[in-house]
Amino acid sequence: MRTLRLLKQCHTRAAAGNLWIFANEIESLASYAPGELVQVETSTGQFLGTGYVNPHSLIACRIISDRKVNPDTAFFTARFAECAALRDALYGEPFYRLVHSEGDYLPGLTIDRYGDVLSVQITTFGMENLKDAITAALKAVIPNAVIVLKCDSAARTLEGLPLHVTSLDPTFDGMVQFRENGISYRTNIIEGQKTGYYFDQRENRLALSSICKGKRVYDVFSYIGGWGLTALKHGAESVTFVDSSAPALEHAAESVRLNGFDEAKATCVEDDAVEFLRSVAHGETASPDILIVDPPAFIKSRKAFKEGEKGYINLNKWAFKAVKPGAFLFTFSCSHHMQRESFARVVAAAAKSAGKNYRILRELTQGFCHPVNPHMEESSYLKGYMLHILP
Ligand code: SAH
Repeated sequence: MRTLRLLKQCHTRAAAGNLWIFANEIESLASYAPGELVQVETSTGQFLGTGYVNPHSLIACRIISDRKVNPDTAFFTARFAECAALRDALYGEPFYRLVHSEGDYLPGLTIDRYGDVLSVQITTFGMENLKDAITAALKAVIPNAVIVLKCDSAARTLEGLPLHVTSLDPTFDGMVQFRENGISYRTNIIEGQKTGYYFDQRENRLALSSICKGKRVYDVFSYIGGWGLTALKHGAESVTFVDSSAPALEHAAESVRLNGFDEAKATCVEDDAVEFLRSVAHGETASPDILIVDPPAFIKSRKAFKEGEKGYINLNKWAFKAVKPGAFLFTFSCSHHMQRESFARVVAAAAKSAGKNYRILRELTQGFCHPVNPHMEESSYLKGYMLHILP
C-alpha cells in the first residue's frame, strides 16, 4: 500500500476525525489509480489513517480507519458485526440501516437490512474495488444474506462509476416485508427508491403516534406510508397519503391491508405535493389536524443551495397555508447541504409569508441507526420540527 502525503497544515481536520481529504490538500494525485488504497500521512510523515483515493473526485481521499489496516473480508466482517450488534441492541429486530457511511466510519457504503435481505449502496470507487470483500463479509455476518447491489445513486456518476441495480441472487424478485415500530410494511427494494425504506424517521414517528387519535392526518411525500401507517395504528380518524409515485402509493395501500387497518380511513392521492397543499389552502380539500411534509432532498450540491432553499421555502409556505390554528405540522429537510440554522430560517420565512405563527414542540433529527460522525457536520443530514400552529 502506498503512502499519501498531505500538504503542510492540511492535516488538522483529518487528525480531528474528519474522513474526507480534498484534492487541494494533497501533494500530488497524478500517480494514483481510482480507488487505490493508501496510508495517509501528514506532511511530516505522521500516520493519520488508512483510506482510498479517487484522483478525479473533489473529495480525493476518504479514510476508513485511523489504524494501519488491510480492508479484506476479515476487516469488513469485524466492522459489520459491530454495526449489527449496535442495531440489534437498539431494536431487537433485524430491520434497520446496518451501515451508515461516514456515520459508521465507512464512507461510500450504505446498507439497509430487511431480515436476510441486504440493500447495498456503494457510491465511491474505493468501496467499489472492495465489493468482493464486502459481500463475503456480509455473508459471514448474516449467513443467509440475499444481497442486492442498489448502485443507482447519482453520486456514482461523479466518481466515474456506472449506475446499476443487481441482485446477487438472480431468483430474488426484490419484495421484502419488514416491521418498524410494530407496523408491517411491504415494498420492492429492486424497484423502490434509494435503499428501499426511510428508517431514519423511525424515532420521529413516535412523536406522531402519541397525538393522532381521532385526527385527520395528511402524509405528504408519503413514499410507502411510514407516517400515515403510524397514524392509522394509533387511532387516526383518517389518513391521506400524498405522493407523485403511483408504485409507492400502491405499497402504502397494500400495507394498510397487511396490518388489518380500516381501508375506509385511508386515501391515496397521486399528486404533486405543492399542488395538493395549494388545494387544501384554497379550501378545495379539508384542512388537516396533523400535516407531515417529508420531502426528498431538494439541494443536491453546494452550488444548488439557493435554488433548493427556495424550493423549501415555497413548500413550507404552502404547508403553513394549508393548516389552521391548533394543527400540528411536522416538516423536514434531508439535504446534507442544508444546515440546521438555515432550515430554521427557511421555516420561519415560510410561516411569515403564509401569515402563520408557530411554536416549536420538538426539534427532530435522524434515528439511532443513522449515527452522526461528530467530526462531519454533513453526516447529521436530517433536520425537522414538530410544530404547533398558534391562533
Ligand atoms: N416520508 C417518507 C419518505 C419520503 S421520500 C417516509 O417517511 O418514508 C420522498 C418521496 O417524495 C418519494 O416517495 C417521492 O416519490 C416523493 N416525491 C418527490 N417529488 C414529489 C412531488 N413533487 N410531489 C409529491 N411527491 C413527490
